[in-house]
Amino acid sequence: MKPIYHELDFGVTCIDTEHMRKDFVAAYLIEDEGRAAFVDTGCYLSVPTLLATLDAKSIKHENVDYVLLTHIHLDHAGGAGEIIKHLPNATVYVHERGAQHLADPSKLRKGVIDVYGELFFKQFLGDLIPIPKDRIVVAQDGDEITLGNRVLKFIDTPGHARHHVCIWDETSRGVFSGDTLGVSYREFDTDQGELIFPPTTPVQFDPDTWKNTIKHLMNLNPKYAYLTHFNRIEFTQNSADMLIQHIDGFVDIAKQLKQSESRHKTIKEHLLDYLLTIASNHGVTLDESQQVRLFKGDLEICAQGLGVWLDRNT
Ligand SMILES: [Zn+2]
Repeated sequence: MKPIYHELDFGVTCIDTEHMRKDFVAAYLIEDEGRAAFVDTGCYLSVPTLLATLDAKSIKHENVDYVLLTHIHLDHAGGAGEIIKHLPNATVYVHERGAQHLADPSKLRKGVIDVYGELFFKQFLGDLIPIPKDRIVVAQDGDEITLGNRVLKFIDTPGHARHHVCIWDETSRGVFSGDTLGVSYREFDTDQGELIFPPTTPVQFDPDTWKNTIKHLMNLNPKYAYLTHFNRIEFTQNSADMLIQHIDGFVDIAKQLKQSESRHKTIKEHLLDYLLTIASNHGVTLDESQQVRLFKGDLEICAQGLGVWLDRNT
């Protein structure tokens, strides 16, 4: 198999896990002084791509020290149990709220199948392999680990999910941000920069907490965000402001439609209008049908997450 990956600078590689489509779900490989770490793994089906990337870059499996998981949503962590079978020296780091679900993924599996169905799980996520407890380390806020000559620091980042950490890489002044600094597809880049919006995924979306987390991360004065969806972008105060604005925009839609009939469908339609409008204001000239195709997966998940949030909070 020929993996697709993008070599960035500072020893960081963005691997296209090819989950669902190209340019959608990334995993990252960090190399330093002959040692390596993955940040997120994609799902179970992405593992062959990750291993093929190691081979293509002549990195020995024994030289991978870490699998660092930003959170346990399956497009980020679903492959962790499978990949560590191939990485004899790797330890998995995860938020304390995620650790037990990696050791015993039965609840995680059930949760995903309840939302997406068994067929989707098998076809697009594949499987979920438990991770032996002695290979899991809980990443606390402020914890640091060393990879070669660089230091990677964990930051507790609730808001998208309560089991979310970001990883601060001082070397590149970059945040491996999982879903916390939003999603931004390269197809929507214009001369105004990147279009960024929030994945309001079920079941722990918490807008106020998320906005505080974004402000907290900006105190690091980052230069880059390594987004899972998709690839590295420069992340400025304007990027943070845009993300916060659209968290508020999504929440406003949800609140307005709280009592509407066929609420989920209506929220989805309004979210699509919202995204098409912000894309248009951003100078995006892609065909609308192309835009709809690219937003499709997010619309479903974001509408579900907003629905869960409405039921819990208003
Ligand atoms: Zn997520």
